Amino acid sequence: MPYPRAATVADFEHNLAAVRGRIAAACRTVGRDPSAVRLLPVSKTVDEARIRMAYAAGCRFLGENKVQEAYAKSEAMADLADLRWSVIGHLQTNKAKVVARFASEFQALDSLRVAEALDRHLQTLGRGLDVMVQVNSSGEASKYGLAPQEVDAFVRQLPAFGALRVRGLMTLAALSDDVARVRGCFALMRELQRRLQEEAPDGIEMRELSMGMSGDYALAIEEGATVVRVGQAIFGARATPDSEYWPPAP
Ligand SMILES: *Cc1c(COP(=O)(O)O)cnc(C)c1O
Repeated sequence: MPYPRAATVADFEHNLAAVRGRIAAACRTVGRDPSAVRLLPVSKTVDEARIRMAYAAGCRFLGENKVQEAYAKSEAMADLADLRWSVIGHLQTNKAKVVARFASEFQALDSLRVAEALDRHLQTLGRGLDVMVQVNSSGEASKYGLAPQEVDAFVRQLPAFGALRVRGLMTLAALSDDVARVRGCFALMRELQRRLQEEAPDGIEMRELSMGMSGDYALAIEEGATVVRVGQAIFGARATPDSEYWPPAP
């Protein structure tokens, strides 16, 4: 499935409308309200000129996988005062300080070390951060995130980190053409969310379920996604392979 490259503001308006239309259609299929699904455009590898076009087309919150790239873009486009950034990729502890400085959201929390480092830097800056806990729903060794059975105990530790506003869960489904397999990943997440909502400690919200990308967001919405992270269907195909973001198993 080819994703044409958006090169004008009109291209972005067109692609955004198309994705929103598919989101609405997926919601109708299962009787959900489209306003309950947030579209997070993912701008990794996209240069500043085209990101400014996406902004002109209405994008105000962008997802980036890599911290350095995201931070450099946030600095370069600091003049766009209402443009916010969500870090959606794996984070090393030594980069927590950068995330604490500029990000509005971090979707890939999967260790207490990172939680502690983020919280410490955020407290120093007097900032808070919306976070989601990343779960490995596919069982693939190449994917980051906690195993589903680890999430419960992990979440119970999070109230100790006062600057982290825990909003929910994030996952990448199996990258597979097998629809049943992909749907299984999403369904597992919805069930995990449901269980955690019943048992979550005070101050921990489990309302958000970030799942679904260009190839599978309609399916994710059918299974309960509240945030979809869509890059290529908005910006166009990426030259960098996914192994750049999800390293192959060792
Ligand atoms: C790149 C990326 C996406 C979006 O993928 P597309 O195929 O461009 O839609 C979603 N989630 C994460 C974590 C990503 O790194």
